[in-house]
Amino acid sequence: MSSTVVTGIAELVTCDGTGPDLLGIQPNAALVVEDGMIAWIGPAADVPSADIKIDVGERVIIPGFVDSHSHLVFAGDRGAEFVARMTGQPYDGGGIGVTVAATRATSDEELRRLLASRIDELRTLGTTTVEVKSGYGLTVADEVRALQIARQFTTETTFLGAHVVPGEYARDRAGYVDLVTGPMLQAAAPYARWIDVFCEPHSPHAFDAEEARTVLSAGAEAGLGLRVHGNQLGPGPGVQLAVELGAATVDHCTYLDDDDVDALAAVAETTVATLLPGVEFCTRSPYPDAARLLSAGVSIALATDCNPGTCYSSSMPWVISLAVREMGLTPAQALYAATVGAAKSLRRSDIGQLVVGNRADLSVLDAPSYLHLAYRPGVPIARALSLTGSGETPAE
Ligand SMILES: [Zn+2]
Repeated sequence: MSSTVVTGIAELVTCDGTGPDLLGIQPNAALVVEDGMIAWIGPAADVPSADIKIDVGERVIIPGFVDSHSHLVFAGDRGAEFVARMTGQPYDGGGIGVTVAATRATSDEELRRLLASRIDELRTLGTTTVEVKSGYGLTVADEVRALQIARQFTTETTFLGAHVVPGEYARDRAGYVDLVTGPMLQAAAPYARWIDVFCEPHSPHAFDAEEARTVLSAGAEAGLGLRVHGNQLGPGPGVQLAVELGAATVDHCTYLDDDDVDALAAVAETTVATLLPGVEFCTRSPYPDAARLLSAGVSIALATDCNPGTCYSSSMPWVISLAVREMGLTPAQALYAATVGAAKSLRRSDIGQLVVGNRADLSVLDAPSYLHLAYRPGVPIARALSLTGSGETPAE
């Protein structure tokens, strides 16, 4: 068993829930890692000896970001759609079909290569855990292969056969729900930890409350945890459905009424509201008021929703800066939501916090303080720290 000591930490941000901002900051700290787990944390002056020493040069160490919502298995390009939206065309979910066609036409090998390069990209931006959804296959075989490919990179895989109704089922929505909840779910479940549904009555392509309930109930029956895309394009039933069914998270939450906020606050121990401000930015939509959610007692997370249509960015630091600038969070609240909050939405306590016994998923900031995550928008100050000294390890 080899041990690694990390020194030169000007500011260790543990996010351990202590201190006025919950960040548990320790100045001039050191940290020992054994077999990928944190074995010791303390003052640099007291650091024990270890086999390998990594000096990060008076930089900041934070828990690696947990990006708990992404759609990274896809092919094709929708840059033109983004430009159209920027010049006034509203988003209604229809562009997903473009990516479905491109993804179906791409080989396994190429899809795997594309995903690998996206995982490399997010690690260079400080993310160490990523959830990856299917949802651009929408046939049994194409959904299964997306999950099989994603499984090679992360244990946090999500079956999203109910992303949109594919074109070939446009006149038979019930038939598609039967497929998703029947043969597709059966084939996909062995490769997925979660099931998700785009519950959005405002999109003709997505699913209404009853269809979403059918999908989620079938997923729960098959042993999958529940995630929901809800309340993105307008007020809707997604939040109430997620709360009622005990989902781990309801994501977007762009349009919430008072009842939605109350419902989320009542289940804050078990259901997280995951905010995706990159989507509001890229679709010119209003931002949800994250400060209101926190003051009501709601558990929140931040994630990228990285996807080729509505937010083609894998940058958690950028998401943090948006959350601070546009959604009323302090930098500390935003960082906590991007680590601990997102880990909670994955029902994980072994990541998101740097405490003894947790995974040693560390990111380093080329900055004197974590405040720079929000203070220096767009500047690549964060990266995942490789503890092996032999290049990057894959994101978990
Ligand atoms: Zn999404």
